[in-house]
Amino acid sequence: MPATLSDEGIVLRRRAFAEADRIFVIMTRDHGKVSCLARGVRRAKARNAAGLDVLARSQLLLIPGRNLFVLAQARPLGPAPSSTDPVRLGCAAVLAEAADGLLEDGHPDPDLYRLLCDSGERLLDSRSVPRVELAVAIFELAAQVGYLPGLERCVVCGRPLENLPGRFLPELGGIVQDGCASPAGLACGAAAIRVLRLLARGGGETARRLRWSPELLSEVERILVAHLEHRLDRRLRSAEVLAQLE
Ligand SMILES: [Zn+2]
Repeated sequence: MPATLSDEGIVLRRRAFAEADRIFVIMTRDHGKVSCLARGVRRAKARNAAGLDVLARSQLLLIPGRNLFVLAQARPLGPAPSSTDPVRLGCAAVLAEAADGLLEDGHPDPDLYRLLCDSGERLLDSRSVPRVELAVAIFELAAQVGYLPGLERCVVCGRPLENLPGRFLPELGGIVQDGCASPAGLACGAAAIRVLRLLARGGGETARRLRWSPELLSEVERILVAHLEHRLDRRLRSAEVLAQLE
């Protein structure tokens, strides 16, 4: 463990520990993902509690402890994520859980850090459509870690996908179409394929201006979650919670 660490970071995970403490998993800008113990933050009027919500960005001072860093100071940066909307907070939780699962400890990636900060701000901004922002953010994250689904060709026969419905197979990381359509996998309509391709090409701005029907949004979201869960080899608990809110 290095000496005292001063860096900015964004909270990916937090859990209660002992009587009044929490353990945080934080993606820092210059030191990658780190865990730290924050003593007493669950007490009312705790000094460092502000700025430690999921996807909140803070300037941090961490000091080496026995097994973990200990949080000595956290100063909120950027707009305070003040949303109380359960869907917005649910979307933030899915992005944070996905990022936590995809990132390894101690690998700095300033571009990815910036992406998480921007996505977090957008998700928690009351003017955005949170589930569209989540779809855009997950695609950007997947592109950054090199885990985009296959959207140009049928993953079984290799023929180019047409403007037709298909099915998404998480274990093959893409869409089947043509005569290969199997009963397995998730339904993926022609509109969903077009939107997924748009997102894969970095078309977040265009995607935000689209008129998303609730059905299209659910279809795209289910596919993205299944794609991530296959990579992580586990369910995304926060996605199950979000699905129950819809
Ligand atoms: Zn095929």
